[in-house]
Amino acid sequence: MQISVPRLRTGRHIFKFQFSPDEYTEIEAGDAVDFRGDVEVVATAHKMGMQLFVTTEAQATVALECARCLEPFVLPLAATAGALYVPEETFDRAESRTHVIESESERVMYYRQGVVDLGEQVIESLALAAPRKPLCRADCHGICPRCGQNLNEGGCDCRPGEDFGHPFRRLLR
Ligand SMILES: [Zn+2]
Ligand SMILES: [Zn+2]
Repeated sequence: MQISVPRLRTGRHIFKFQFSPDEYTEIEAGDAVDFRGDVEVVATAHKMGMQLFVTTEAQATVALECARCLEPFVLPLAATAGALYVPEETFDRAESRTHVIESESERVMYYRQGVVDLGEQVIESLALAAPRKPLCRADCHGICPRCGQNLNEGGCDCRPGEDFGHPFRRLLR
């Protein structure tokens, strides 16, 4: 998922990428999501001098565990992100391919040797788009707190309220 900047004409360009997240296992944000299959990306790049502003629209499928019933399920995700890529100065900082600094208005990233790699931007945007409390479906019934039965698959013999006591029983006396 790379764009070679020196060869690009000034102006607007559209790129389409399809890649395996396995190629980007070193990106930390990717640890938070369990990708299934390839990621598809449409990138719109604006070149100004040697700077490149890139917006990405990414689509992927991730595997999640339902926060209510604990069953695994897959969810399609879509995420957009934007960043300005500027060429790294002549000094060599070997520890990392890109260095991220936060500016007030937009994200700025350095690129090296004329090549912008969109892996970090895309994978981070998808990781942010993943729900913190995923539900297999909006009306997931969850599991019975008493016997653990998955209530989406049918009821259990426990009667709600039984053994837990009426919460206002003492007030009703
Ligand atoms: Zn569920
Ligand atoms: Zn039960």
